[in-house]
Amino acid sequence: MEKGWNGLPYYSISDRYKSLFGAKVYKIPVAVVDDCPNRLGLKGMQTCSFCDVWGSAARSEAFDLSLTDQIHKYRAHIKDKYKASQFLVYFQAYTNSFAKIADLELNFKQSLDCGNDIVGFVVGTRPDCLSLALFKLWQTYHEQKHVSVELGIQSFFEDDLIFFRRGHTAEESLRAIKKIKDLTTVDLGIHLIFGSPYETDKRIKESALMCNDLPITNVKLHNLHVLKNTALETLYNNGSFTPISLEVYAQRVQIFLEHLRPDIAIHRLSAFSSRYDELVAPQWTSNKMGTHQAIIDHLRRETSFQSRFYSPKSESENILQRQLAHQSSPSTRPTSSLNSL
Ligand code: SF4
Repeated sequence: MEKGWNGLPYYSISDRYKSLFGAKVYKIPVAVVDDCPNRLGLKGMQTCSFCDVWGSAARSEAFDLSLTDQIHKYRAHIKDKYKASQFLVYFQAYTNSFAKIADLELNFKQSLDCGNDIVGFVVGTRPDCLSLALFKLWQTYHEQKHVSVELGIQSFFEDDLIFFRRGHTAEESLRAIKKIKDLTTVDLGIHLIFGSPYETDKRIKESALMCNDLPITNVKLHNLHVLKNTALETLYNNGSFTPISLEVYAQRVQIFLEHLRPDIAIHRLSAFSSRYDELVAPQWTSNKMGTHQAIIDHLRRETSFQSRFYSPKSESENILQRQLAHQSSPSTRPTSSLNSL
């Protein structure tokens, strides 16, 4: 039997926002930072293998507008389209802690000054780009409005992280999560990518169990897809990388959700490539609604739902401890087989 969250077989972020704010809340994506440590090649890092020129998210035209103009423009559009009344400003593209604290503070202040219908902001960033000053700043604003942090940890497994060329380890991700929860009360979520060549069903289950042990409230899922002018495109073209099919991805989402805590909200079931001319493969990534519906249909066919096999007494604690024990030292950055790309 499907467990119902407003008819969905999973706990959606939209349900979570409704319980937090009493109404539907929409995100306004903005772009204020145009770089990240990887793109700059700091400490030998390289651009993530899947990341395109827009930092995996930004609207190309956004950089021509000031922050307040972006907020006014996109808020008007979302208001018209969805009759929305509450908004979170989403600092999404690139690494939104990779700037001077004074600049970040100005951005946060400007976003909240855009009206009472802005109920807070969401910051997307990396686990190795954090500081005590930043935690303090987040906490200060969280005491006024809602502050949510989304950490792009992408995987709990080192070989995946090396393949993605993330330049940080899984241990750094776990330590960053712990530090944020020790030093702030901000809402915390993570991003995960499914579809690496090393992925197995067992790993997907372990990833869900790891999530269950973490002090997070939400997860955003991405399917690894190939965009033009990325290292992944080179691998795809020479036959070294093949994206997983929609059917396999739907099965992986099923396994993940079935073992996930019921109170962890899901942002979306897959990534969506809105820049059609930049998508190389798989083509199902360009069909937002079709892909979403295909995954929902799959879950319903399997009478599957989030937390179907979740048990508070699962072996998750052992997995987490084992993972921490076997991670490399934070100072030992992984090297990538993609270095020559
Ligand atoms: S995914 Fe994020 S961290 Fe990686 S290169 Fe793109 S903007 Fe930088």
